[in-house]
Amino acid sequence: MQKLYQDSIAIVRCYGKPSLFITFTANPKWEEIEHKLLPHQSASDRPDLVARVFNLKVQDLLNQIRHKEVFGPWLGWVWTIEYQKWGLPHLHLLVFLKTDHHFLTAVNVDRFISAEIPTGSDAMSHELRGIIQSTMVHTHCVGGNEKALCMEGLNPLTTQTCRKGFPRQFQPETIIMEDGYPLYRRRDTAQCFTITVRATEGNVTAIIENQRVVPYSPYFSLRYKAHINVEVGGSVKAVKYIHKYIYKGGDRATAIVVSDHDEIKRHLNGRYIGPSEAVWRLFEFSTHQELPSVTTLALHLPDAQAVYFSDREAPDDLRERLDRSMTTLTAWFAYNSVTADGRGYFYYEFPEHCVYVRKVGWKPRKQRFSIGCMWSASPFMGEHYYLRLLLTIVRGARSFEDLRTLYSS
Ligand SMILES: [Zn+2]
Repeated sequence: MQKLYQDSIAIVRCYGKPSLFITFTANPKWEEIEHKLLPHQSASDRPDLVARVFNLKVQDLLNQIRHKEVFGPWLGWVWTIEYQKWGLPHLHLLVFLKTDHHFLTAVNVDRFISAEIPTGSDAMSHELRGIIQSTMVHTHCVGGNEKALCMEGLNPLTTQTCRKGFPRQFQPETIIMEDGYPLYRRRDTAQCFTITVRATEGNVTAIIENQRVVPYSPYFSLRYKAHINVEVGGSVKAVKYIHKYIYKGGDRATAIVVSDHDEIKRHLNGRYIGPSEAVWRLFEFSTHQELPSVTTLALHLPDAQAVYFSDREAPDDLRERLDRSMTTLTAWFAYNSVTADGRGYFYYEFPEHCVYVRKVGWKPRKQRFSIGCMWSASPFMGEHYYLRLLLTIVRGARSFEDLRTLYSS
């Protein structure tokens, strides 16, 4: 799983920070789900139905971004599906767009993203207003509800505030902060609605204004009628955040199995997964994707590569196998020894221009695109670490000796 994280960081190295960070949650009230429920069923009884519909919507969303280019030319993405134990599946998606530094402007942010309750009087604004009010408003901590999850983890002796920063300040214009994050426009438009929430001191009626709107894309909110948070200016922290769900693994639990027949109690230590994850896995839907693909690049000292052989292999065959053994690193040296066209590239850049074929070596790339990612090495790994450093500053090396040779001496 660490490997997936390294791959995603390789995409960040190649394309820079992600342009957009999107969180999409299934909506149990989707008509595709409600129409298929049997009498007396609710969506929570049918995780299979929720998973199928959500998977189709996720594929549509990805298609909108990649092929319809709703945010502009697409370069790549990293996404993962997260499952709550008793809740609905989520998609966390980082999008890399072909943009330059002019992309992150207040005008562009306002074109794609809003953090306000729609005010228009036309039919589309009316529909969008209903969707935003029911799906894109942060109401957990309305009325200072100290039991809200977003209030967790703070010092109980101090006044509790929302971890997600709601309610936000009114903001007359979108401003791009120095760190690249925007403060979204939240004008005091007097557009509001009331809700009743359970607070610490009982039910309270609260007025919701633009201060509690979660940033959204009007186009996506109208299209998917669900919670779909769209924000610009993702960071490396966001890459770590979405990978948290991949490498944490399933939750662990101790279960006691009681048998009526022989009254034997058995304790089982194991992992458990919720119904939405269970059906997602049974249907073999994708749970993670990185595009473009990442080519893993071997990192080893001279004659220290892994070679696989059978313990019944004859000594001569074994010798031949060792002589012929090839890794992406030794094949890179070999390619540069006979061909000059790759000598301008670093090892980690090589998969962008060439493709590695097992037992054959590197060949010029004719189609598709891939990003290289060397195995990581910490300073505690000594020679491995210094080898990796050399590979990041020497282009087109032809051998280990060439790699460590400066000015031909
Ligand atoms: Zn909150």
